[in-house]
Amino acid sequence: MISYEDVGGVHIKYLHHCHRQLWLYLRGIRPEHLSSTVQLGEAVHDTSYSRHSPVDLGAARLDFIDGERWVHEVKSSARPGDADRAQAYHYCHQLHRFGIDVEGAILHYPATRRTQRFPYTAEAAAQAETDIAQVLAVASAPASPDRLPRSRCRGCSFTDYCWTE
Ligand code: SF4
Repeated sequence: MISYEDVGGVHIKYLHHCHRQLWLYLRGIRPEHLSSTVQLGEAVHDTSYSRHSPVDLGAARLDFIDGERWVHEVKSSARPGDADRAQAYHYCHQLHRFGIDVEGAILHYPATRRTQRFPYTAEAAAQAETDIAQVLAVASAPASPDRLPRSRCRGCSFTDYCWTE
């Protein structure tokens, strides 16, 4: 069973997309290598910010932290979504736990040349705590949560698993 300390960015992302996706992932089902969406994300990541060294926090992996204590992360999507913001807060939460009081996160979207700042406020910290609690609640569910409406499953690497009758 996953612990509080083990909750990472992928868990937070799946929490904000689909609880069933999170539940399957937590049980070791890993179809990501089949997903072209994930491969695209890795390719964007590899080519966009190669001059920086990633920061490995164990459960969280960040692209880099600048001299003014902002976390930077490169995204393959075109614009910020709810899951991106939640992940950004989670990384800040992790760093604060390690004693690094970052100011917030700056997300980079090379596909649209946009950046988005997410200051790490008291509300953001509370949201990060709530998200961790929700990941643990999904993890302890005895059965897989219901599927989303199929229209929201586009790009999910579990599509075959969920929708092959
Ligand atoms: S295919 Fe749809 S229901 Fe299944 S895990 Fe993915 S998003 Fe959730």
